Amino acid sequence: MTYDLLLKGGHVIDPVAGRDGIADVAFKDGKIAAVSEKISDGEAKETRSAEGSYVVPGLIDLHTHVYWGGTIYGVDPDKIGRASGMTTAVDAGSAGAGNFRGLVDLQQSRTDVRLLAFVNLSYPGIFGDLRAINFGEAEDIRLLNVPHVVKALKAWPDKAVGIKIRVGRSTTGALGAMPLHLAVNASEQAGGAPIMVHIGADMPPRIEEIVDPLRQGDIVTHCYTPKMNKPLDSKGKLRDCMIAGRERGVIMDVGHGAGSFGFDICRAMLEMGFTPDVISSDVHLYSADGPAYDVLVTMSKFLCLGLPMVDVIRAATATPAAAMKRTDIGSLKVGAAGDAALLEIKKGPVVYVDAIGGEMRADQRLVPRGVVLHGKWWSDGMAPTLKGGK
Ligand SMILES: [Zn+2]
Repeated sequence: MTYDLLLKGGHVIDPVAGRDGIADVAFKDGKIAAVSEKISDGEAKETRSAEGSYVVPGLIDLHTHVYWGGTIYGVDPDKIGRASGMTTAVDAGSAGAGNFRGLVDLQQSRTDVRLLAFVNLSYPGIFGDLRAINFGEAEDIRLLNVPHVVKALKAWPDKAVGIKIRVGRSTTGALGAMPLHLAVNASEQAGGAPIMVHIGADMPPRIEEIVDPLRQGDIVTHCYTPKMNKPLDSKGKLRDCMIAGRERGVIMDVGHGAGSFGFDICRAMLEMGFTPDVISSDVHLYSADGPAYDVLVTMSKFLCLGLPMVDVIRAATATPAAAMKRTDIGSLKVGAAGDAALLEIKKGPVVYVDAIGGEMRADQRLVPRGVVLHGKWWSDGMAPTLKGGK
């Protein structure tokens, strides 16, 4: 037999290859082995029909919290992956240099989903429960040790994809934006590793102090935050720092979460042509059962907000892969990781909820019809039931 698994007759969308049409996809030895208009059944040990489904590269969620068991608000990546078609979970700073091995070694050993991670600038990562113990991980300078971060980035080159820093009053406290400058310093010492910065809901610092220091390839997460520090000014105009950031090549990431995404502000920004580079969920304990759920539900919201299907797929495959400089994931090209998601657009009324209780009534939703991981059929797909609509 030439192939281990063959998906027949699906509508393949692979932005990297520029493919958008019916094709068969074959897997062998954990990798993509062939993509072509016709591959014969006889060449594969296992053949599955993908007719009526989109076949896309395994989804990459660039902003997750999957240090389950290691931090109080981490969620199980396997569960989220099976529900959404996410085959790569990128943890956004749950762990710092002090506990990074537990995430990318121990946690990876108990999950099939590929784990990559931004190292938190703060040595213990995000250790509070964000409710009763709401102590900002970056508000005490003693926790922000640049050499340890540089060492972690160099120790795990295949797993550590950059540096995470949450900047805002509740996380950096009286230090303001200063920790971000430490992160830039760590990045420079580590060969230019990208920084993912979170726009805190609360000031100080102002959004300008968060976005202006970012360089080409750095990432702003929560780019449609409806909170105090939002990207639109009081007159509804897009702030100059966001315009200049985009022109400079700063990557704009959704990071939905439980408090960082609003339909009204997003709609207004989309009308201004400010589309997301990356669609991510910021899935964690407080957002996994809604309002974010997972990357696929977040993608569904953007599809319903009018983003074309191919752009929605690109924002959770090719672009996050490129942001991490990973050429082995995010596409269906021959030799890439054997990860794929089978998706269907399910028609029918659905009520989506944003992170501040806003609702959007729509008539379609992306649901998973199967997940291929490491070249094997991994899940039939189990979409979560959405809560919402009173
Ligand atoms: Zn987060």
